[in-house]
Amino acid sequence: MIDSIKSKISNNIRITEEEALNLYKDVDLLTLGSLAQERRFNLVPNKHVSFVIDTNLNYTNICDAYCSFCAFYRTDPSDPSSYTYSVDQMIDKIRKAREKGCTTILMQGGLNSDIPFEFYTEIVSRTVKEFPDITPHFFSAPEIMKMTEVSGLTIKEVFQELKKAGQRTMPGGGSEILTNEIKSKISRFKPKNSVDQWTDVHRNAHDVGIYTTATMMYGHLEDDSDIIETLSHIRKVQDEAINSKPAKFTAFIPWSFKKDNTALGKKITKEAGPNQYLRIIAISRIFLDNINHIQASWFSEGYKTGQIALSFGADDFGGTLFDENVMLSAGFYNRTSVDGIKKLINDAGYEAVQRTTEYDLIEVTSKAI
Ligand code: SF4
Repeated sequence: MIDSIKSKISNNIRITEEEALNLYKDVDLLTLGSLAQERRFNLVPNKHVSFVIDTNLNYTNICDAYCSFCAFYRTDPSDPSSYTYSVDQMIDKIRKAREKGCTTILMQGGLNSDIPFEFYTEIVSRTVKEFPDITPHFFSAPEIMKMTEVSGLTIKEVFQELKKAGQRTMPGGGSEILTNEIKSKISRFKPKNSVDQWTDVHRNAHDVGIYTTATMMYGHLEDDSDIIETLSHIRKVQDEAINSKPAKFTAFIPWSFKKDNTALGKKITKEAGPNQYLRIIAISRIFLDNINHIQASWFSEGYKTGQIALSFGADDFGGTLFDENVMLSAGFYNRTSVDGIKKLINDAGYEAVQRTTEYDLIEVTSKAI
């Protein structure tokens, strides 16, 4: 069976879920890596590795979702460590990020019912008006659902309003593992927090022309088949987008669960290590044949593992993430600079190229999407 899968990969033929599970579970790491590199160079036929200059800002840590894997949220507004910033305060933070050279602002927050829908549209419109050289890469699927709740609008109408305000891209958080069984175990399960919720939000974003990323947080309660099921849902949404929509997923970004200070962490004896991360990068590249960019994360997995992932199918190195508080809350801290990122990429044998949020390369003329 492995020989027939290898032949499919060499001939750029799509592999099935069953074949992906087989590869992921049974093939040795280096073979998996070389198969992934074959796919990588078929899709991205040069040694460019892109990165973005960005930061991750949070407008509130008040949240009513109670995800057991999260160390970031607070439930009580009177807790001295809780916060909700105004639009003016966030604009000030964006100004400071711009002074550091950021071109992308990744902004996310807790699910705070006291924030009106106008907050979200205003922060987008002020960002694009006051900082035309910055792309607002704001809000993930659970926040979009919170916006439908506070506004009474449909998912599509929320996106239409955000697009009218100037939003063009959205991050892919909130997927974690895309099986209803795992979702029911790691966050407060209700019909809205299901696989369908995450995929519907992204389908609607693509419908109105907003590009999104897809993510996966693994290394907790899932098994191997849950990982392949997650990839399968993402591949399906991307097939629909490519066939009929004005936008699609730009990249897939996996990262491992960080357990410190979380309720879920008490049930996990061991965090996922580099071996599993590299297998996941490789199988993602092979299985997600319709997503151009697979992102390696120096930030979540460490500098060395991030570098090695570039030889396991990844062609993007993420961002500078000057400010990051979600993983920091779980006791995880990594930092670098623009020169640091370039050096890591170049030292791994690739050519570092700055990109936009939409994965267009800035220093060369090619169109990446
Ligand atoms: S992961 Fe997001 S939605 Fe879940 S508790 Fe944390 S802040 Fe809230």
